[in-house]
Amino acid sequence: MKIIMYSVLPEEKPYIKAWSQKTGNEVTMLDVSLSTETVVLAKGYDGIDIQQATAIHEPVIYEKLASYGLKQLTARMVGFEIINLEAATQNGLTVTNIAAYSPRAIAELGVTQAMRLIRQLGYFDQQMAQGNFLWNGLISQEIHNLTVGIIGAGHIGGASAQIYAALGAKVIAVDPVYNVELEPYLEYTDLKSVLAQADIVSIHTPLQADTINIINEKSLKQMKSSAYFINMARGGLVDTKALIDALQKGEIAGAALDTLADETDYFEQQVDPATLPQDYKALQAMPNVMITPHSAFFTNTAIKNIVEIGLNDVVTLVNGGKSHNALN
Ligand code: NAD
Repeated sequence: MKIIMYSVLPEEKPYIKAWSQKTGNEVTMLDVSLSTETVVLAKGYDGIDIQQATAIHEPVIYEKLASYGLKQLTARMVGFEIINLEAATQNGLTVTNIAAYSPRAIAELGVTQAMRLIRQLGYFDQQMAQGNFLWNGLISQEIHNLTVGIIGAGHIGGASAQIYAALGAKVIAVDPVYNVELEPYLEYTDLKSVLAQADIVSIHTPLQADTINIINEKSLKQMKSSAYFINMARGGLVDTKALIDALQKGEIAGAALDTLADETDYFEQQVDPATLPQDYKALQAMPNVMITPHSAFFTNTAIKNIVEIGLNDVVTLVNGGKSHNALN
């Protein structure tokens, strides 16, 4: 079978080559993303596999893919709002995504940052850069004495709960869905209790109508002034201005952010630091705030899984089978 892959990252290439050798399928790797201009490159292939942030809503793309005899469109990513599912369905294309490729990747960065925060490492780094090797005033906490509150105990929230529980922390969580498999690791409660009781509040919900700005002035005031807030999920879950206010006033002790509401303007690219927005600069200036550029997912395990789950779906669908990742 001949498969075309768009927007291949350098880190994906060794896993693609290994999969190709193992399965005997031929994979062509492109640097470009799928668009009205590049769709023609899919002509002559049996399967197609994409990943990109740019939208492909033009129906002509799906019409052309169908005219080339393609039956599927595999998106090796979680979000699929860039895809026109209606046009895909009308043209007989089954679309798949990858809902969970390595929840541990994201969970582990969240825990890492939480550990850095409770050990005051941002303050130590700042002081030592100025020649101050004292530890006065920077007494740390130990994780096994703390309560961690998880908002959204799905794939990533559940994986986070398991790690925190293994480290000896008490874990409480709020989620409208009760998952019996998480009973050994956490106790379910409500949002108010999570905010009020947790020493570390870690959010892992999807961004949807009822979760936009779920962390706002009111919810930040409900947290302990000693609490740390971890957001490895979506920037839009947080009212950034309210978060900056709370941090500046000492209403919470610190934060770790892998996502920001306006991140698409500067994350995943090289930018002139002077042009960064004020909210980013305000957060970056605080030693009790850790920012990463939406890199929580970027581990070797996640990349291997993304490649293999996507390509296996291509083969399954091209051979007439069904995938549990199908979206239409
Ligand atoms: P998931 O669907 O497995 O879990 C989400 C959970 O949130 C579900 O259990 C759901 O019931 C719960 N939930 C929904 N609304 C809620 C509410 N109002 N209050 C409490 N819980 C609620 O999703 P996931 O795979 O665990 O992903 C979680 C988040 O992580 C998403 O926002 C996703 O976009 C983000 N994510 C970030 C990265 C990264 O690199 N930083 C990578 C992948 C995913």
